[in-house]
Amino acid sequence: MQKLSLKTFLRKYPHNEACLEEIKRFVFPDGIHCPKCQKITNFYKLDGRMAYSCGVCRTQVYPLKGTIFEKSTTDLRTWFYVMWVMSKTRSGISARQIQREVGVTYKCAFRMCHQIRKLMADDGEPMDGINESDETYIGGKGKNKRYVPDYNEKPKEVVMGILQRGGKIHLRHIPNTGKWTILKQIKENLSTDASIYTDQLGAYQQLNRYGYNHSFVNHKETYVIKGTDIHTNSIEGFWSIFKRGVTGVYTHISPKYLQHYADEYGFRYGNRKADDMFTEMLRQIALKKALQVSPLS
Ligand SMILES: [Zn+2]
Repeated sequence: MQKLSLKTFLRKYPHNEACLEEIKRFVFPDGIHCPKCQKITNFYKLDGRMAYSCGVCRTQVYPLKGTIFEKSTTDLRTWFYVMWVMSKTRSGISARQIQREVGVTYKCAFRMCHQIRKLMADDGEPMDGINESDETYIGGKGKNKRYVPDYNEKPKEVVMGILQRGGKIHLRHIPNTGKWTILKQIKENLSTDASIYTDQLGAYQQLNRYGYNHSFVNHKETYVIKGTDIHTNSIEGFWSIFKRGVTGVYTHISPKYLQHYADEYGFRYGNRKADDMFTEMLRQIALKKALQVSPLS
């Protein structure tokens, strides 16, 4: 759900300073701790600079340091606007559209979109509860849903998804659907007490051996096991949005960037219940900056 309308957005962020102030609020929610004074002091915005200065000792602090905006020559408000657009769309928005709408070069729009997708990468927290796991095939030629190697065809790329019912989704561009590839994703992203529902793919068949509560539906026979909640319909639903976006909006996706696009769709899915997805993105700026500037040690 998106509650931040364009009108509110424009009123809330009328200029670069307002955007910087907002980032400062997210990055330093309790005020700025001055490294020199060794305590929280009052900081004042420096005229014409993206910096604040300590009212006591004049030490300067740059809230954009370590963020995706740090080295950019594009003004902050344009960044905010592109983030807002990306938080609002359901099926994605192309760099061409951004270029037209915002009035930046294609190259710049493309770069901005990818930087913003970095904010949308998932947190890697293992999931519990009931999960549905499945794979989808992107690009290449041929209408096969399943990967059939044909060396005359451009290969399809595989994206694996683990959807936590009522929660988030983990998406990974994987090299193949072999047992070890699949197992690695499951081990890294699911708690061992989680339940996992899949189709009949061979790679899933020994999950119980690894402690997972695994059930599967043989799609050659049915899509829901009668009288149970065992199905993969939620992730199938997600794939239809993802594929419509990826093949419709982003017509030619380089395999190199497929993970970033997956992150974008995964982020929107995981935050679908958030009051305002734009605020979630601002939160990610602060979280990812914290990781980059002072790695948790
Ligand atoms: Zn100070």
